[in-house]
Amino acid sequence: MQTQILERMESEVRTYSRSFPVVFTEAKGARLTDEEGRQYIDFLAGAGTLNYGHNHPKLKQALIDYMAGDGIIHGLDMWTRAKREYLEALEELILKPRGLNYKVHLPGPTGTNAVEAAIRLARVATGRHNIVTFTNGFHGVTMGALATTGNRKFREATGGIPTQGASFMPFDGYLGEHADTLDYLEKLLGDNSSGLDIPAAVIVETVQGEGGINPAGIEWLQRLEKICHAHQILLIVDDIQAGCGRTGKFFSFEHAGITPDIVTNSKSLSGLGLPFAHVLMRPELDKWKPGQYNGTFRGFNLAFTTATAAMRHFWSDDTFERDVQRKGRIVEERFQQLAEWLTAQGIPASERGRGLMRGLDVGSGEHADKITAEAFAQGLIIETSGHDGQVVKCLCPLTISDEDLLEGLDILDASTKKVFG
Ligand code: PLP
Repeated sequence: MQTQILERMESEVRTYSRSFPVVFTEAKGARLTDEEGRQYIDFLAGAGTLNYGHNHPKLKQALIDYMAGDGIIHGLDMWTRAKREYLEALEELILKPRGLNYKVHLPGPTGTNAVEAAIRLARVATGRHNIVTFTNGFHGVTMGALATTGNRKFREATGGIPTQGASFMPFDGYLGEHADTLDYLEKLLGDNSSGLDIPAAVIVETVQGEGGINPAGIEWLQRLEKICHAHQILLIVDDIQAGCGRTGKFFSFEHAGITPDIVTNSKSLSGLGLPFAHVLMRPELDKWKPGQYNGTFRGFNLAFTTATAAMRHFWSDDTFERDVQRKGRIVEERFQQLAEWLTAQGIPASERGRGLMRGLDVGSGEHADKITAEAFAQGLIIETSGHDGQVVKCLCPLTISDEDLLEGLDILDASTKKVFG
């Protein structure tokens, strides 16, 4: 396989090609093919960007039809039919059935663009600057979003410029099983001498993805919402990784029955892997002046088209979400068995997650890397997350067939047993 030019010219900053050093050529559903014709089952799925799999035929066809009809591809943020159809589907199929009323801000197409816009909006709408964020949170790597991201590796890469405007609080479970970390937040907010500037917003992932597949408890999330209301603090749910069905509901916060003031989505929003993000906000918060937050690529018409097709195909009723929850239980059971087996070998391990966002914590990045490297050798693409990369994470396409899902789980099982048996 020819990799010389790739290794020579691409910056050292590259990441995933180090774990999976082959040249991929094609992909369909939950399978990727490399240049030598070898197939891999994909449990990474663009780190949560391919919830509907690679090249889903309905989404692909919508894109082909749109392009064949010379549909507008770029139009700055001008009105297009594709944008109108996207907003219609979002309102009719996603927001209204969930009793949600949000306006839509279309920022640049990446997750960090959406987080930057959400944070800025919270500041503009409240006149306050501080943002409360949580340990192990990951919200992106541009300066504003980075200030709310915990991981030192990213925080150290600013050339010495300090990140500003965020205060870290312990996430659910951070201080052990028996501590409710919100006691601490509530105490600081209620104490004029605590040193915590009353924040414009709290930003939270309901299941931390990059931080190690850490699900916040349902009651913890409900209490967080109550605390925010009591102190007139906006609640931002960053649903960039956990949204679009990953946890078994379109929005991950639906499990807790809470209504965030602001929501960010990206990754699987376009459905086909095209870059796309939006920020949803309560209408009263829309304090932007025209053009106050701009950018050339705001709303990508090809992504509107595939996102509309995805909403119409998958989210017209609850069949899809029930199927995701069913598959989530299969992965949960298998991860549980693997955790027990590892623990019996003297490697304390545990399983956690929500829906099809699941992690197997094997205690150290070294252990996890051995497992994922062996899995790759056996034809499974699977990555790690967490502060030390200690969690093997399953982010397989939600559309994966039972056959591929079981084959992938069998490979993970065999790889773990080969490495540690
Ligand atoms: N927020 C969350 C929860 C994420 O998981 C990510 C990426 O993994 C981001 C924000 C940043 O998204 P992007 O990498 O598209 O900038």
